[in-house]
Amino acid sequence: MGILYAVATPIGNLEDITLRALRILKEVDLIAAEDTRKTRKLLSYYDIHTPLTSYYGREKKADYLIDALNRGKNIAIVSEAGTPGISDPGYPLIKKAVEKGINVQSIPGPCAAVCALVVSGLPTDGFIFAGFLPRKKGKLTKRLKELFNLEKTVILYESPNRIVATLEMVKENFGEVNVVIARELTKKFEEVIRGSIDRVLTLLKGSEIKGEVIILLHK
Ligand code: SAM
Repeated sequence: MGILYAVATPIGNLEDITLRALRILKEVDLIAAEDTRKTRKLLSYYDIHTPLTSYYGREKKADYLIDALNRGKNIAIVSEAGTPGISDPGYPLIKKAVEKGINVQSIPGPCAAVCALVVSGLPTDGFIFAGFLPRKKGKLTKRLKELFNLEKTVILYESPNRIVATLEMVKENFGEVNVVIARELTKKFEEVIRGSIDRVLTLLKGSEIKGEVIILLHK
């Protein structure tokens, strides 16, 4: 039986990859990538020529990869950025592999949520990673209520065009909250905005928000 390696890759800066990750990407029989275009760029930067196939969560493709693992092939799964399995299609494949008794190994590296937490200045001794929140207002409010009840730092992934609406929901339901917005981490336009929810909303409303963002909240 082959090994499934969950290999963390950069979230922006191509230098953010471990020596072990590069070796594994070189040595495996196949790399299953969420975004082959992005992964190809990374591989060519490091002169790696391992065969690449696309995997973005489809069950049929997961079955094909499990079959290859069962036939002794070593496979690396990589997501578009960061750690596979964290709010991306890595999870269904990893779950299936675990169920089939396949050896799954983590090759650690960047994860946007952790990068954002450490620069936020918010408490790091207890935090909740909640990924992308539900879109519907009722479900969103319910989820936020559950998260704030835990009295921990809450980490959310969000799209830049929904960030103001999400923060307005937070303000409407929970009043004063400390907010940190981590944008384009490890990239040229990296920015971290910290402050009360009112301050952050005023800043965000006065500018166009571009790129990848994370919201961190602490009540
Ligand atoms: N698996 C990835 C990880 O380990 O971080 C996360 C994948 S998830 C589909 C993508 C989300 O991660 C984006 O919408 C954004 O919220 C966050 N993200 C990824 N890269 C980022 C970056 N460089 N700066 C800020 N947020 C980022």
